[in-house]
Amino acid sequence: MPTGFKNKYAITPNYIPGPSKRRAGLPISKVRFLVAHDTGNPGSTASQNVRYYINSRNEISASAHLFVDDKEIIECVPALTAPPEKAWHVLYGVPKDNELYGVNANDAAIGVEYCYGGTIDADKAYQKYVWVLAKLCFEFELDPEKDIVGHFFLDPKRKTDPVTGLANSRRTYEQLLRDVVAEFNECTGVAVVPPPVNTAAQAGSVIVTVKLNVRKQPNTRADIVQVLSPGTALNFVARVGNGQAINNNPVWYKDTNDNYFWSGGVKQNQ
Ligand SMILES: [Zn+2]
Repeated sequence: MPTGFKNKYAITPNYIPGPSKRRAGLPISKVRFLVAHDTGNPGSTASQNVRYYINSRNEISASAHLFVDDKEIIECVPALTAPPEKAWHVLYGVPKDNELYGVNANDAAIGVEYCYGGTIDADKAYQKYVWVLAKLCFEFELDPEKDIVGHFFLDPKRKTDPVTGLANSRRTYEQLLRDVVAEFNECTGVAVVPPPVNTAAQAGSVIVTVKLNVRKQPNTRADIVQVLSPGTALNFVARVGNGQAINNNPVWYKDTNDNYFWSGGVKQNQ
């Protein structure tokens, strides 16, 4: 068991007053897993969602523990900042949580909401979301490989989160699960040796098609050295066949400054 965790971000408590419909004040005796959600409301921020929950606390029994956007992580039902309480984020009637973990999500899982869209910076919000999921795994001694599940997986007839919110940030659910494991290892100090970068000399020229991050290494955990806008022309000197697979595409290019960018964010310059 790791003994420490790197605290990269603050977690701000702003609790829903209870007892109320959204916050009953019932303790969770043992946190067994995490449920990854998104708000389903593009452009709404963490503070806006929490304010709405607080204002409507006596109207409906629906809630979650944490809201994450590009600016902050707010906890509105205690999970990390006080002994964990139950929140109402998955229907009791769905069977999948019981099949997977032997318990209803509302009784034993922490629900984490990803805020996306509008003016929310997707890269920054995603980093915080990944980090807080890893942090929850550490604090509750969960396995980041097995103990996180998406809401859509528990309630496939009604829900698509967090797949929709992540897609809005150019990311997949599978990517999220991998990134949480990597973040967990990094923040607990577990050294993971990356495979050697497999480059082949190949020169070419491309045009950027999305907001493109140029990084020190061919993976999304490496430092960003430059952010390029769509339409920017860019030369490369080598092709990397085994970079981090994004949307199942592991090909990255090495630029003339020995930095890297993902091939899916560019098109060939004719
Ligand atoms: Zn949800």
